[in-house]
Amino acid sequence: MKATAPQITQLPVGVINKIAAGEVIERPASVVKELLENSVDAGADRIEVAIEKGGADLIRVADNGCGIESEQLALAIAPHATSKILDADDLFSVSTMGFRGEALASISEVSQFTLRSRTADSHAGAEITVDGGKLSGPHPCGCPVGTSIEVRNLFFNTPVRRKFLRTQQTEMGHITEAFLRVALAHPERHFKLLHNGRAIHDLAATENWRDRILALFGREISESLIPIESFDGDVRLWGFVADPSQNRGNNKLQYLFLNRRCIRDRALGHALGEAYRGLLMTGRYPVTFLQFEMPPAVVDVNVHPCKLEVRFQDGGRIYSHLLGALRTKFLATDLTNRVRSAGEEETPTLDQTASYNRSDDSLNRRKDFDDWVQQQLPASPDHAAEQHNHEPAAEPGMLNLTTFDRAAFDLGGGSQSQPAEVAGSTGQPANFASSAPSTVGGGQRVAALQVQNTYLITEDETGLLIIDQHALHERILYERLKTRLEEGEVEIQRLLTPEAVHLAPAEASAVIEATELLADIGLLVEAFGGDTVLVSACPVMLGRMQPAELIRRIAETLIEADGKLAPREATDELLHMMACKAAVKAGDRLTPEEITSLLEQRHLCHDAHHCPHGRPTALVFSRHELDRRFGRLG
Ligand code: ADP
Ligand code: MG
Repeated sequence: MKATAPQITQLPVGVINKIAAGEVIERPASVVKELLENSVDAGADRIEVAIEKGGADLIRVADNGCGIESEQLALAIAPHATSKILDADDLFSVSTMGFRGEALASISEVSQFTLRSRTADSHAGAEITVDGGKLSGPHPCGCPVGTSIEVRNLFFNTPVRRKFLRTQQTEMGHITEAFLRVALAHPERHFKLLHNGRAIHDLAATENWRDRILALFGREISESLIPIESFDGDVRLWGFVADPSQNRGNNKLQYLFLNRRCIRDRALGHALGEAYRGLLMTGRYPVTFLQFEMPPAVVDVNVHPCKLEVRFQDGGRIYSHLLGALRTKFLATDLTNRVRSAGEEETPTLDQTASYNRSDDSLNRRKDFDDWVQQQLPASPDHAAEQHNHEPAAEPGMLNLTTFDRAAFDLGGGSQSQPAEVAGSTGQPANFASSAPSTVGGGQRVAALQVQNTYLITEDETGLLIIDQHALHERILYERLKTRLEEGEVEIQRLLTPEAVHLAPAEASAVIEATELLADIGLLVEAFGGDTVLVSACPVMLGRMQPAELIRRIAETLIEADGKLAPREATDELLHMMACKAAVKAGDRLTPEEITSLLEQRHLCHDAHHCPHGRPTALVFSRHELDRRFGRLG
């Protein structure tokens, strides 16, 4: 027997709007974005955003734009009502930010909403209020020319949504991001953002895009910008890309605008990565501010409810345009010199040798490592005496390097007798720690061969060991930090002058929210207004690592964890991150002294076999295993 067919009914407008609201209005920041775009479309040149309690209590956007006629107010909040397009053809010539006519309908459905507006040729303004979709008004009211919209108690009638609101700081981070995307795209307009009565941004109108970038992202970024301009037919690409020394662990600081609309596009993100290939380490992303201007007809902006994604008629051509423009520019720019001189004049406290240049970077780290080893090692007369011993000592229980040398060269058919280096299979020379053998534990000699600048090969009582240098060093640093932390002995170093670090909004809120946690691990930070935090002390163990870089890495770690970690886990995560950052990397050539110290430290670890992420630090081939593989066991 068949079940009775269910009744099909037309959903009430309120439900339809709530469904639409779910798509367009995800959180307070979405409201801010929609209202700001409306103000821009209305031709306003002064726009003020006031937020209370991260937007949960109040979002108010006031502008001096064209206003709305009193008799049109009710229509403005009706679904699919818009003044921006008339028919489907218009969809392909949209020059406004909005056109779907959904935003005000959606917002007023899920909040307590007031809209006041006055056009230039009316003597008074008019006001409507909407309480969870129920309209009253319009009533006459006094107000300046322009429009002011207040959204109170967002999601008050959709409790599930309301519950999903995060802390004020987090929501404010998203709001600030939404704000700056619009403010960035429209430098010729004055924008202001207030939170709980305090001005966070007050951006004077400017002709110069760099000034707006400066106001939003600070000096370090704005002074590293390289201007870009390039044409391809009627497509214009212009803006700035930051010097490679300004790079991040995610792509959040890659702003791309299409006809003044902030968009995200994977392919174009990829083009940026390609353009910077070889200039950045893997996993790092460039900082860019770029604008595409093109006829509306060659791009479809109606493929995403928030209009964050678009579809290009000829995506391949746009990709090549972007990549080509940047490559050409980089070829004509001496990036190395730029970094040096910019670094010197801007922040004299900055370590002068620091730059994106990989070898410089590893030099610094090398120095840190040396310093650190000096501090950590118990003063052993043996060690000191042997620092300068360049004779490879051949003793029982030790890898015989002399033999190894010759063997390697005999295989290659060469005739040299005492080479210091042997070409590895990929052309990277192997590296011998033959100059500083030293004593560990029960007086046993340790020496190792570094291969591919990544692995250390050595032996212990049981057999042959292949050690991952980065994983091992990371483990050592991690345990050290953790012990100090548990013993409440994190030594902190106060900076002579606190360092102001300018962050992306989401980064700033994550760091500020974690202030206490960071204090526990020896990092003293405080909010400094806007998206800037002030660092006044760092853990001594991190040596010369730049506070700014440390804070950025921490922000990235916190954002990735997205508040889902308990404080303990979060601390642990941060220790991992710091250890990972401070450790030698795969590809770093180590001095014999460093190799020796690493191997010595290995014996002090609780778990020398795994890096903090759980990867093994060493592979062991026991004597038995070797014998078996060489067929000696019969
Ligand atoms: P859309 O922006 O897609 O047209 P909205 O729901 O955001 O849809 O707005 C509906 C209409 O209300 C707009 O088309 C516009 O005519 C009017 N409007 C909204 N905000 C403003 C504003 N700040 N100033 C003037 N008119 C506005
Ligand atoms: Mg709109």
